[in-house]
Amino acid sequence: MVSELYKKMAEYVDSRADWMVENRRDFHKYAESGWHEVRTCSIIADFLTKLGVDELILGKDCFIAEDRMGLPDQEELDMVYERALEQGAVPEFAPFFKDGFTGVEAIIDTGKPGPVVGFRTDIDGLGVFEAQDDSHKPFREGFASVNPGEMQACGHDSHATIGMMTAETIMKYKDQLCGKFKFVFQPGEEGVRGARGMIGTGFFDDIDYMMAMHVMPLNKDFPDEDFWFQYKTCMANAKLDVYLYGKACHAAAPESGNNAMLAMAAIVQGIYGIPRASVGDARINVGQVIAGSGRNVVCDRVKMVMELRGLTAASLDYLEPYARRIIEHAAAMHGCTAEIRLMGATPAVVIDSPDFTDELVALANEIGFKALPAPEGTKPTSDDYAYMADRVIQHGGKSCYIFYRTEEAAPHHATTFDITNDKDMTKAVKIFLAAALKIVGK
Ligand SMILES: [Zn+2]
Ligand SMILES: [Zn+2]
Repeated sequence: MVSELYKKMAEYVDSRADWMVENRRDFHKYAESGWHEVRTCSIIADFLTKLGVDELILGKDCFIAEDRMGLPDQEELDMVYERALEQGAVPEFAPFFKDGFTGVEAIIDTGKPGPVVGFRTDIDGLGVFEAQDDSHKPFREGFASVNPGEMQACGHDSHATIGMMTAETIMKYKDQLCGKFKFVFQPGEEGVRGARGMIGTGFFDDIDYMMAMHVMPLNKDFPDEDFWFQYKTCMANAKLDVYLYGKACHAAAPESGNNAMLAMAAIVQGIYGIPRASVGDARINVGQVIAGSGRNVVCDRVKMVMELRGLTAASLDYLEPYARRIIEHAAAMHGCTAEIRLMGATPAVVIDSPDFTDELVALANEIGFKALPAPEGTKPTSDDYAYMADRVIQHGGKSCYIFYRTEEAAPHHATTFDITNDKDMTKAVKIFLAAALKIVGK
């Protein structure tokens, strides 16, 4: 049965649709990729402060500093901080998010006993140059990214907005609710860099029910479902940057050098040649190599960018040490040394509790949406929400990852990606709220 409180909340969300569109487009225009999200975080923090949430946790306090992965260098962090201030970051909050501490957490405590409900929304853009021509609606309507090479090309601008509106609605009806509501605005999901740094603070340890949301396109086989609910394990992955150090010399007398280019070539061949194993499906990609300095110089420096994925924890546990052995020994074989940096990772864990997921599928249909479990054959995702889900489940809580489905202008991560009808964000807020009400029994 649809509760009166849910109806009131849903009406309220509809009345705020224009604000949601405006806010989403503002985040879209000032896209900030992983660990750059100073402006975005300052606006979220200001918004939550004005709502009067009971507890606001900002920047450094959201992280175990050394658990963050894939941080840009200090020069880049300084540059994006100055840029955020120029682009309208809220000055009183911006300093909290300096130096790669771009996270916000909030708690709404009704003061009445009840479960603890968590909502995770990611906020980062990614390294894409957004299309700048009139066929692309964000450009035509003046909200295409003004930050070259940074774009909200995965819809996280909508996720951040959905988290904000969920908090606003819960605050508005707080006196009719019970329990506690926790919000996580996570940086750096792209490249799976941001979540791991947030889980060690204890914030997740009392959450009974945790949900994450992602936008997903409609497709011809399923043209009108509002939601998909996963029953999935996240694909485990490890993103490695490898630096090889050799010794340069004249190419006419190569015996006095150590050729890092040869080590690199041996590594590429070796890694792709890792024997198939029975422990689970796996993927390998060496995506970029930067090497050498000139035609007649023996190469002394190489940077390689690669990723390893496993459908099971066991397959990544097999793959990653194997790859590391190849890297180290291929380097040594050619008299070079190797430095391996872990730039991002997700564990292969179950991110959906089946009984909780079943309940949410039924609930979504009950309140008038079309919803079903993600169909068989849906590609497994890699989302570092897996760290948070795992933490919650390890402590006895439940988790569900929800896709809200809507028309998209182009595939995710394309230069012309956009959410065609961005008012559809309201349905994502409604499912968060309906789930929260069901959990707290209202
Ligand atoms: Zn993405
Ligand atoms: Zn995404």
